[in-house]
Amino acid sequence: MLIGIRKDGYECLLKDLFSSNPISNELPRVVIDHVINNVRMWDGKPHVTDICIDTREAYLKYRYDYFDDLKSIIRTSFGSLRHASVLNGILSEVKLDSIDLSGSADNIDIRPNGDIFVCDFKFFSSYSVAKHFGIVNTKVSKTDEFGEKTYYKNGKEKTESIKSFTSPSNLYITLQLNIYRKLLSEVIVLPEMKKEIINDGGMIERNIERGKIFDGMEAFLFVTDGGTYMAKSRGIDEMSYLDKNIQEIQYIDSIITKKTQALVEAMKTDAVPPMCKDIYCMDNRYKCQNFCPVRDICEKIGGSLPDKPF
Ligand code: SF4
Repeated sequence: MLIGIRKDGYECLLKDLFSSNPISNELPRVVIDHVINNVRMWDGKPHVTDICIDTREAYLKYRYDYFDDLKSIIRTSFGSLRHASVLNGILSEVKLDSIDLSGSADNIDIRPNGDIFVCDFKFFSSYSVAKHFGIVNTKVSKTDEFGEKTYYKNGKEKTESIKSFTSPSNLYITLQLNIYRKLLSEVIVLPEMKKEIINDGGMIERNIERGKIFDGMEAFLFVTDGGTYMAKSRGIDEMSYLDKNIQEIQYIDSIITKKTQALVEAMKTDAVPPMCKDIYCMDNRYKCQNFCPVRDICEKIGGSLPDKPF
């Protein structure tokens, strides 16, 4: 479980965040409150986020004490706060709980024509946005009309960037949106829950009558380092993107069932799940090296597991 925040060798336990400490003095109260309100304890059923990451990471986060980096905390807390303020409460942070799973969708958006979209908002680095779309930017020599390399006056070779595309790496968002889509379908059919979450002038009912609940899934990506030289060198020219091509996963039920069973089993037996699959680690280890919250207690990049879970 998240027990504290770490920065530049300083550590501050969550319970001491309101005392004087180099870290708590640096954080706005709104961030501290957000962190404390979002500490997740194991209550017997996974959260949507646990299904979108590898079971090992989910298990370690529930079972072992860990510190998160200040920069990750700020990024995630402001991301959530901005969802709420951007959407001004319009079906934002819609809580969706089923018997086996709990979570909150960033936004259920009902368009003027009645179309319904499940939307997710992400604040991503240009690296992650490039991965999400599979953009590969390659520098090549700039040639003249005869195919010869060209040079600046100082002798430096001229280059240009060529953008190409490889397979997108958008598993996390695709899983997340598909799970919300599934949860919302289940929740919608329960009249008492529908009343609680939807106040849309009967739009949902009309959509059910027309035999269609959803029209699609969308991801809004805000580039945290957008406009910088680094972002442009990665082929990310815009400050934000709207991805309307999130694919429907037909077998989402079986993914949820398998991953739920694996996590529940690991929590029951305390057998540490195998190392995360490459697909969950971004480029095999980018996430492990840069922002996995439990990387210090995972052997993947040299961390060590404490003797005993709490
Ligand atoms: S460090 Fe990598 S392998 Fe270890 S839990 Fe995190 S994502 Fe998984």
